[in-house]
Amino acid sequence: MKLEGIHHITAITGDAPGNVDFYARVLGLRLIKKTVNQDDPTVYHLFYGDEEGAPGNDLTFFEYPGVARGRAGAGMVHRVVWRVASPDAIEFWARRLGDEGIEARHEDGTLIFADPEGLEHELAVTDVADAPLIAHAAGVPDELALQGFDAVRALTADPEASRPLLEDALAFEPRSPREFEARGSHRGGRIVYDVTDRRGVGGAGTVHHVAWATDADEQERWRERALAAGAHATPVIDRFYFRSVYFREPSGVLFELATLGPGFTTDEPLESLGERLSLPPDYEPMRERLEQTLTPLPETRGWRRAGEPSGAP
Ligand code: ZN
Repeated sequence: MKLEGIHHITAITGDAPGNVDFYARVLGLRLIKKTVNQDDPTVYHLFYGDEEGAPGNDLTFFEYPGVARGRAGAGMVHRVVWRVASPDAIEFWARRLGDEGIEARHEDGTLIFADPEGLEHELAVTDVADAPLIAHAAGVPDELALQGFDAVRALTADPEASRPLLEDALAFEPRSPREFEARGSHRGGRIVYDVTDRRGVGGAGTVHHVAWATDADEQERWRERALAAGAHATPVIDRFYFRSVYFREPSGVLFELATLGPGFTTDEPLESLGERLSLPPDYEPMRERLEQTLTPLPETRGWRRAGEPSGAP
């Protein structure tokens, strides 16, 4: 039994329109779901991903309108690492980000930059057989597109603290002294720890949690293993597009174990994912009011490549 890499990563934005502009237009991801926070339907939960909304390339944001910028510290993910196909892709993104006035720096063959609220990203050329998960964006040739998550980098005060839970309970494999990989039969994803004593502050541009992918019929067993290892795992929670268990790992990073299905086509067709506001059934009676009060967002259709069939690249 192995986890299937990173399922999704959830972060915080104080500026939903700017967030859509950056991720759907500049980075060329597909806005695959426009829904509301299940605990507060007056604000968005936005999901970006590949054409099909597959686990493994799914960056999501809780909207807290106008919230101050946070700062990553011990117990928080501070960088999202994405796969790209080639050094040409690195150069393409350096130019594209530069044209947008976004500073990007080269480091050991990778490209590091931050979104407009300070969330850090790294593009890396990787040598894995995992299927590339790409979106068809205007101005981004498929061979240069982001291909999904490779890793998260997290901050910890004690890099050894997380090892027993990761290796023994969650079956991650150690890859280097502070690096662990969850590799299943289809995909792999890593967490890499960087050491700091700095305390973090939640807010815009910070990561809320990282979710690892599990087969639905293995989720309860993973939950029991996490509990047995001392983690305070929640019961299974129905998130509508997947089912989730949450707990903090010993360094303090909030982990989620999310099921691979049912996925984002459970309430709208693949062709029009993310175009209409999706509401959980309980909030459907509030639709008219919510559509009037939620922050207006840019139209993303024009940023997608017209005439392309949806589906696998
Ligand atoms: Zn989540």
